[in-house]
Amino acid sequence: MAEAVSERVFTGLSAAKGLVIGTLVIEAAAHQGGRQAGSSPEERKALEDAIVLAGRELEALAAKAGDLGAEILEFQSALLEDEDFLALSFAKIEAGGPAHEAWATALDGEVAEYRAGDDDYFKARAEDLLDLKDRVLRSLFGTQTEAPAQMEKDTVLLAEDLTPSRFLELQGPSLRGAAILGGSPTGHVAILARAHGVPLVVGLNARLDSALHGAPAVLDAKAGKLIVAPGQDALAAAKDRLDALATDRRAWEDLIARPAVTGGGTAVQVSINLDDPALLDSLPPEHCDGIGLTRTEFLFSGGHLPGEDAQFGVYKRLLDWAAGRPVTIRTLDAGGDKPIPGVTPVGETNPFLGVRGLRLSLRHPEIFAVQLRALARAAALGPLKVMVPMVTVPDEMARVRVLLDRALADLAAAGIAHARPALGMMIEVPAAALNAGSFAADFFSIGSNDLVQYLTASARDNPAVASLADARNPAVLETIRRCVDAARAKGIEISLCGDMASDPDLLPLLLDCGLRSLSVAPAQLGPVKLAIHRQLGTGGRHG
Ligand code: PEP
Ligand code: MG
Repeated sequence: MAEAVSERVFTGLSAAKGLVIGTLVIEAAAHQGGRQAGSSPEERKALEDAIVLAGRELEALAAKAGDLGAEILEFQSALLEDEDFLALSFAKIEAGGPAHEAWATALDGEVAEYRAGDDDYFKARAEDLLDLKDRVLRSLFGTQTEAPAQMEKDTVLLAEDLTPSRFLELQGPSLRGAAILGGSPTGHVAILARAHGVPLVVGLNARLDSALHGAPAVLDAKAGKLIVAPGQDALAAAKDRLDALATDRRAWEDLIARPAVTGGGTAVQVSINLDDPALLDSLPPEHCDGIGLTRTEFLFSGGHLPGEDAQFGVYKRLLDWAAGRPVTIRTLDAGGDKPIPGVTPVGETNPFLGVRGLRLSLRHPEIFAVQLRALARAAALGPLKVMVPMVTVPDEMARVRVLLDRALADLAAAGIAHARPALGMMIEVPAAALNAGSFAADFFSIGSNDLVQYLTASARDNPAVASLADARNPAVLETIRRCVDAARAKGIEISLCGDMASDPDLLPLLLDCGLRSLSVAPAQLGPVKLAIHRQLGTGGRHG
């Protein structure tokens, strides 16, 4: 640190929760200083070399990044091989521009177009383009892509922005947390930070002031706060909270491999939500009661439609991992916050209320039938449950059952091993929640993320209405209660797999609604099991 600085508090948005005390490391822009430009052929060659190097770096990163990271990098690697895309930059070089300017202006033009798309998919792609712009410029300027030399133990990184590939490069034991001036809680870096358990604040209201480099810092990513050079009180408060978190951690480490039971003796099933199968490599199946939600959208990354055998292979892998525990696989839930190019409709005024989830699958029987066949084949291998998203009226479930029956009959006719899986539905549309008793389903699972957004008319991806999208709203809790009552009256299982289930603070409310089965983010298994253990009394209406 150049000179002592006094306490300063900066605020932003929480993108990955967590609390760390560390040392502030400011990452300067990727490519500072000058670059001597040559003749047009020399500049073309310089750009070609930089592109080759960037491609190799992306390949190496993807190899160690896990499925989720590799999937995010795929779009960038594909662009580096897209001749039409590269032609823009080469044309600018032919016109006499230096390679770095040609590349930067071509990419800036593309970014502007993607940003004009104004939905999450296009915004995430703009983020990828900036990432690629940066990486090729680093190669051109000869700037290192390794972690900055000053990355110390317990680094809290402060940067203008952090691209997905840069995050993967820096990710490791030294990087304890990050705060960036740009970004969004729904962007790719935020997704990666949550998956890797790295606390992240985005949209930080600060300037990159080199005088702060090396200062002690507290990053309270849950509150979206960065405290630089914390005073005694702030530091003591952070240490107390870290101590309490460490005590909790020791407590849940003792509980995590055991079935969850409240202090009052009520058993609660705790399963996991799976967004990325790579996570299973580091998760012992004994820590949970199976998989309560598999978001199969990862199979369809980049608009690529997986074949029946590829899907069957993935479903088999999940069943093998679960070793006899139930595995719930949700059919494709594209659309809304999960667009898939080439599959989801473009130009809808409100994609969250449009052709998404089951509505889309029913319009694309050629995609849906492949998934149902793969699921029916996997059901022969273990306790597989099929779950359908965004169901609104009973007739939709009846149509799914007809399609499933057809898939089973086709497999039987072809002599291919198969079994009938349990067929359940998500309850995330208010019309389904209030009419749950009328649906023919083998089980229900409440999708509180969508249910809350539809009940409160507050988009789940709009931070400006985040305080209205409140899971504690009495209307939300009353709706959940009604769903639990409907499931009990029908004698079928009901679970909750939205983010509400992963928040230990909400656990007493969910038990009070009568829920006895939850599906949570893998990183929340311990904290949720601890909250269940600490719950005294009978644990709600149904004992
Ligand atoms: C939900 O809506 O709560 C849910 C679990 O599904 P997703 O978040 O994938 O829409
Ligand atoms: Mg949903």
